Amino acid sequence: MKTRTLAIIKPDAVSMGYASTISDRIIKEGFIILGTKQIKMSLSQSEGFYTVHIGKPFFEELTRFMSSGPCIVLALEKENAVDSWREVIGATNPKEADEGTIRKEFAKNVGENAVHGSDSDENATQEIAFFFSEEELNGDI
Ligand code: UDP
Ligand code: MG
Repeated sequence: MKTRTLAIIKPDAVSMGYASTISDRIIKEGFIILGTKQIKMSLSQSEGFYTVHIGKPFFEELTRFMSSGPCIVLALEKENAVDSWREVIGATNPKEADEGTIRKEFAKNVGENAVHGSDSDENATQEIAFFFSEEELNGDI
């Protein structure tokens, strides 16, 4: 079944000029881009997006980093989109990411790790709705 996931090209990757290479990879991997926009999150927006990580030792650093510069958010569609995208991006820590994954190629470290991917269909739905209204998306599911 075709499902959706939220991808983010994070501020480190955008500032390093990797956005178009990563977008090309998204297309090459067979994802349909239902919606995309470049945004700069405020700190409170970043904190709202990452509520699941409140209380973790990296929360403050993460939310500061994610609001430090422009990022690109993308609503993606594909068969089994969540797992498929997580395979393409690789492990959270680039040192543990497989060869050929986006994080292996572009991530600096476990914090500034180039891209985001939703971790479940439920969270994908919530995360997409955080950034996009249904009217902004081109899909019909
Ligand atoms: N993160 C971090 N230190 C850690 C774990 C995570 O800075 O030890 C950051 C990193 O940017 C990661 C994000 O917090 O992408 C969300 O963490 P999660 O465990 O959800 O990893 P992901 O789903 O992004 O692979
Ligand atoms: Mg996660």
